[in-house]
Amino acid sequence: MRLSRSEHQLYREQQRLLTINSTGPILTSTLIAGFLCWYLRHGTAPTILFSWLSSFILVAVGRLFLVVLANRAEKTGRHDGQLDLFFLGGIWLAALLWGTASFLLFPHTSPLHQTVFSIIITGISAGAIASLCPNRPAIVGFLTFTLLPLSAKFLMIQEQNGLVLGILVILYWLVCLSGAQKLHKNITENISLRLKIEHQASFDSLTGLPNRRQLLKQLEQELSRASRHKQNGAVLFLDLDNFKTINDALGHKAGDAVLKHVAERLGLNLRKEDIIARMGGDEFVILLPHLDHSIERAAQKSQEIAKKLANTLSASFSIDSREINITPSIGISLFPDQEKAADDILEQADTAMNQAKTAGRNTVRFFLPGMQEAADKRLRLANDLKKAIENDEFSVYFQPQVQADGTIVGAEGLVRWMHPTRGMIMPGEFILAAEESGIIVDIGNCVLRKICQTVKAWEENHLLKEHQTIAVNISAREFSTPDFVDRIVGTLTETGIKPHHLDIELTEGSLISSVRDTIKKIQALRDYGIKFSVDDFGTGYSSLSYLKSLPLHTLKIDRSFVNDIQSVGNGVNLVEIIITMAGNLGLEVVAEGVETAEELNYLAAKGCRVYQGYYFCKPVPTAEFSTMLQSGNVGK
Ligand code: C2E
Ligand code: CA
Ligand code: CA
Repeated sequence: MRLSRSEHQLYREQQRLLTINSTGPILTSTLIAGFLCWYLRHGTAPTILFSWLSSFILVAVGRLFLVVLANRAEKTGRHDGQLDLFFLGGIWLAALLWGTASFLLFPHTSPLHQTVFSIIITGISAGAIASLCPNRPAIVGFLTFTLLPLSAKFLMIQEQNGLVLGILVILYWLVCLSGAQKLHKNITENISLRLKIEHQASFDSLTGLPNRRQLLKQLEQELSRASRHKQNGAVLFLDLDNFKTINDALGHKAGDAVLKHVAERLGLNLRKEDIIARMGGDEFVILLPHLDHSIERAAQKSQEIAKKLANTLSASFSIDSREINITPSIGISLFPDQEKAADDILEQADTAMNQAKTAGRNTVRFFLPGMQEAADKRLRLANDLKKAIENDEFSVYFQPQVQADGTIVGAEGLVRWMHPTRGMIMPGEFILAAEESGIIVDIGNCVLRKICQTVKAWEENHLLKEHQTIAVNISAREFSTPDFVDRIVGTLTETGIKPHHLDIELTEGSLISSVRDTIKKIQALRDYGIKFSVDDFGTGYSSLSYLKSLPLHTLKIDRSFVNDIQSVGNGVNLVEIIITMAGNLGLEVVAEGVETAEELNYLAAKGCRVYQGYYFCKPVPTAEFSTMLQSGNVGK
């Protein structure tokens, strides 16, 4: 059976009343059961008394346990219907035990004992009405299971007194039922009324969305959750541009219709966990919880969402067969923000929204000026990178990989952005932004094609020896695209190079995302003859056993470990461990960032045979590296 939201709330509230009020009655009835057994100790067999009382205590303990579970569910807000059923079962079981008492413990011989016994059973029933009446099956079941057996017992005595008493108990049962029914109705009406008042105080009557009060309550919860989980979320303050004009020109009814449509469209474009609230007038607030661990990415995501919302709202509305166009101004404030409270965050978003209005409407603005600048810069950089691809501004430098005597065994291709006005820009300045915006995929394609074309030329001029390899850097974002393998194979066939000249460098980050996918992709390209290296090895967290399962060729020891050699002196250096490990896994090692003769000597002593670094040669343009290939040596 599916309940509507208000029916569900009502049911939950009834259930809550039933549970929070039940500890006292459970304990009291257990005491009374104990007293009853003590009182009847002379006329009833001890084994019967003992088994009845222990069953009763067992059921009571079970019910108390359910109360604890129910209280916990109340706190976390995670209710389950099964618990409710068990709870009802516990109540019925207790009632059945009282019912069986009428047969098992009934004192046949002493009228005084019979009177006390009857008072206890009828008293228990009357007492139950108050605590069980929120739930109809609970109270009806309880009264029936306790009282009818008593009445049956009296009727079975087959005396005139018995007959009268039996009928009296039935009448009493009916009176109790009707009293319980009245009380149940009263309580239900009370709860409904309270829920209605609460709803009116927390929700907007026009759109049915949470209002300011409710939003602040939720934002407060999200703030503490965000600090606990080290997550960042955002509050978007959205105000419709020129709404007043619509209201004035078309009347309030049309204005209301627009607001309802806006609420609807916003809802269709958000995640389930996002909250939309109406602040009043034409102001809406959207709460986006847990966007990202990194504040930069959270900023970027919130900006993307704000743009998407602005887009959907700007599609025209048809009200009274009239086309209406609307644009919003949106202010964004990220949270958690130091010790800022919920209303501060809301105010910041409001301020940012006003800045958006001043900036010319239909815009998105961040609260923090630094954040806005960073967002603008990222956007500009992403746009510039797109243009750079179109204008063919990327070129590749090559840094030789050599043996100790300078003999070249290969090279790593490193991208350079030849900016028309700013000159050469190093990858450190743009790779991260390219990865975030996804343009890295296009840049990567472009770099790979250039490298392959160069390799082809070297092959044709017999400059590249069979064993020499040229490495290309592939970022995690490129590697994770579904058509990664196809693109590499496509470029290989298009340029016609020998695959064993190509070496793909992946960072540990690329390798750990999806094991099955990673192995499949690497294996597919290894089957072509392409080699794979782990770049910046030692800086990530890939486990040894995992690396073992991948068909890799080389570990590139990260520069930071190589540069540590001097400072560590004679202490344990990770380089040594990495070299031994690579040997055990059957992998080659390349030491990166070798800058001094000391580093080279140390690495050589530990068994490393291939080096890359300024000590031998900096990255150089293609022509320069071609000359080096001719001599086969970097001339060290
Ligand atoms: P990486 O893959 O670790 O590349 C090695 C970096 O160390 C290069 O910086 C290189 O110039 C520098 N280097 C080499 N020897 C030495 C040395 O002895 N001392 C010092 N201090 N540095 C040395 P570069 O060219 O600026 O590249 C930086 C990073 O940008 C690369 O680090 C790589 O992660 C990324 N990158 C470069 N080209 C590409 C590309 O085409 N695609 C992708 N996805 N990333 C690239
Ligand atoms: Ca690299
Ligand atoms: Ca590296």
